[in-house]
Amino acid sequence: MHITEHIKRAQGKTLFSIEILPPLKGRGIESVFNGIDPLMDFKPAFIDVTYHREEFIIKKMPDGTEDKISTKKRPGTVAICAAIMNKYKVDTVPHLICGGFSKEETENALIDLNFLGIDNVLVLRGDNAKNESQFIPDKNGNKNALELLEQIRNLNKGMYLDEEIIEATASNFCCGVAGYPEKHYEAVSLNTDMEFLKRKVAAGADFIVTQMFFDNSKYFDFVKRCADEGINIPIIPGIKPLTTRKQLTGLAKIFSISMPNDLVTQVEKSEDHAVKQIGLDWCVQQCKELKAAGVPVLHFYTMGVSEATKYIAHRVF
Ligand code: FAD
Repeated sequence: MHITEHIKRAQGKTLFSIEILPPLKGRGIESVFNGIDPLMDFKPAFIDVTYHREEFIIKKMPDGTEDKISTKKRPGTVAICAAIMNKYKVDTVPHLICGGFSKEETENALIDLNFLGIDNVLVLRGDNAKNESQFIPDKNGNKNALELLEQIRNLNKGMYLDEEIIEATASNFCCGVAGYPEKHYEAVSLNTDMEFLKRKVAAGADFIVTQMFFDNSKYFDFVKRCADEGINIPIIPGIKPLTTRKQLTGLAKIFSISMPNDLVTQVEKSEDHAVKQIGLDWCVQQCKELKAAGVPVLHFYTMGVSEATKYIAHRVF
């Protein structure tokens, strides 16, 4: 079922959902289920599975030369989505990215998803490859989320890349896109970032999932700015509890977000062993306020670890 339909049927009640990562190559599906099992009591409306592009490693060859080899450290997004749906009977949302994929490969992944009955996707550009200072698309790939979205919208009309395919089966994907309450790190300003978000919505995005934030006012401002620009699709807040002191600077840097002074002060004044509880309490308060404000879904970035999300969900739902 489409995410928008889940939200509609909830009739204003805030839903619970999670995002998980595929395990590192070599680990089995049990490691995925072990991360989900403890959270099933909270009846997630859907489960997102992230997508990871290839990384390049330099391998020494027997003749002494070096070869640049592409490897995917976390493969399996589509199969994991199918395995989760099969085991838990819950909708899954595979992330689709531009980076590292030709349009042809993307189309084939969409065909697989369609065959599997997976009808939601989160449409993303993806991050830079680790060895690149800026995002470089595949030679035959989509350059940004907007282009990828347009490809999926075409497939929803039965338009495949090969124009000779006629009377083709149309897909029926409900498409989410990313939104950044504190702007995307490459965007020159909040306004230019909003212009690009508006284009994604105009191209047919059905819902927005936000980057994580630790200050709810950032989310509320973002929702208001979206409304002022005529964006009226659901805006799902992405939630991540702080659990270590290192994350204070680490998350801020990786995701280009700010940390509220009050949270920083509390963490800095405390011993290491107390930091996790501060982060959890902070997140519980954040979630309670968001829920009271009527957000459609609280979407937790579990990063494969269920304990913190379970603690929070228990106090909020
Ligand atoms: P876009 O919407 O394409 O925007 C990228 C940048 O380009 C922005 O600065 C935007 O303002 C600008 N821009 C957009 N259109 C244009 C244009 N026409 N001309 C010029 N500039 C333009 N990454 C992964 O690799 N895998 C994942 O599974 C994943 N999941 C994510 C889930 C969520 C909820 C979020 C918020 C992010 C996720 N990311 C993931 C990270 C994401 O891929 C990066 O933040 C990426 O750098 C941008 O992706 P986007 O879809 O927002 O890009």
